[in-house]
Amino acid sequence: MGFSTIAIHAGNEPDSATGAVSVPIYQTSTYAQEGLGKHKGFEYARTHNPTRLALEKNIAALEGAKFGFAFASGMSATDAVLKLVKAGDHVILGDNTYGGTYRLFSRVLVDYGVEFDLVDTTDAVNIERAFKPNTKMVFVETPTNPVMSVTDLRAVSEIAHAHGSRVVCDNTFMSPYLQRPMDFGVDIVVHSTTKYLNGHSDSIGGFVALNDETDAEWIGFIQNSIGAILSPFDSFLVLRGTKTLAVRMEAHDRNGRAVAAFLAEHPRVQRVYYPGLQSHPQFEIASRQQRGFGGMVAFETGSLENAKKVLESVKLCTLAESLGGVESLISHPATMTHASIPLEKRQTLGISDGLIRISVGIEDIEDIIADLDQALL
Ligand SMILES: *Cc1c(COP(=O)(O)O)cnc(C)c1O
Repeated sequence: MGFSTIAIHAGNEPDSATGAVSVPIYQTSTYAQEGLGKHKGFEYARTHNPTRLALEKNIAALEGAKFGFAFASGMSATDAVLKLVKAGDHVILGDNTYGGTYRLFSRVLVDYGVEFDLVDTTDAVNIERAFKPNTKMVFVETPTNPVMSVTDLRAVSEIAHAHGSRVVCDNTFMSPYLQRPMDFGVDIVVHSTTKYLNGHSDSIGGFVALNDETDAEWIGFIQNSIGAILSPFDSFLVLRGTKTLAVRMEAHDRNGRAVAAFLAEHPRVQRVYYPGLQSHPQFEIASRQQRGFGGMVAFETGSLENAKKVLESVKLCTLAESLGGVESLISHPATMTHASIPLEKRQTLGISDGLIRISVGIEDIEDIIADLDQALL
């Protein structure tokens, strides 16, 4: 079956009690049991909830995974995955991951004895070189935020597997519609469903998808033991969101390409970061492993003053953190999403004071471009 059919139907069977076509919000903490040890598979809602279960089946199917687990946020999903490694284990972490992921490693996991090295994973040679005898996991994000560096998922998977290590990919920026990491050998996919999967900027959530039965059992055990579960209402919202994932991602991709092309020609823009531009250093890999290039575009205006002027002149685009919603959002990574990264590190990553990031929404493209055009005057 095709992607849209799976998106609309996986996990979405009509409700067995009432025939409701839309999976109900099972807002309950517990379930009546018929007798001792006799129940319908649901005992307590931290462990099982039908609305969450429907979403877990749905997104697992979209990623081509056997198992899926919905969490209270993208960070709690990532945290659960990191509980597959133990004190004394080593993790290779992409050097340009989401700031919260870096914070989890550098401020939390270090105190629990998890070792890690930051590696530029855009070059597979760097990954090969970073392996240690105790390396148990490679954690990458592609494309990265905000400069859209792309990592070759097949190359990473081959290297990691040769060393007996798992590969985790944060697929938030692409969504399973534009990129399916498991098709290239990735073992575990994590998502912030807050972004494209939900798509309407009205829920925080996370997801883990995987195929290995032993690892899946452990992730389920962690989900229940720690309890960072996605609520029934949020599960409903995300399940509603994924039904239109294909049409939304097509629109984000179309508008993203148009905005990138417009900016690339603009005299006040010094550089555009978008994997769909031939000038992008990983254009070839992106074209190979992605179905499209998506709606995330970053561009260099040359100075803080220039960036400030653009950010304060836009009328349609909203100045805000986050991404992946139907509305266009614009942000200043150096002072917003990436403010906690030391200046030197920011500079090596290309996150200058003049850099602006846009999460291109699905409004009419003429209106988005007219807004950017007047702001760049
Ligand atoms: C937002 C985001 C996260 C964190 O997700 P939350 O839902 O905010 O906890 C992780 N990775 C990426 C790439 C993100 O954009």
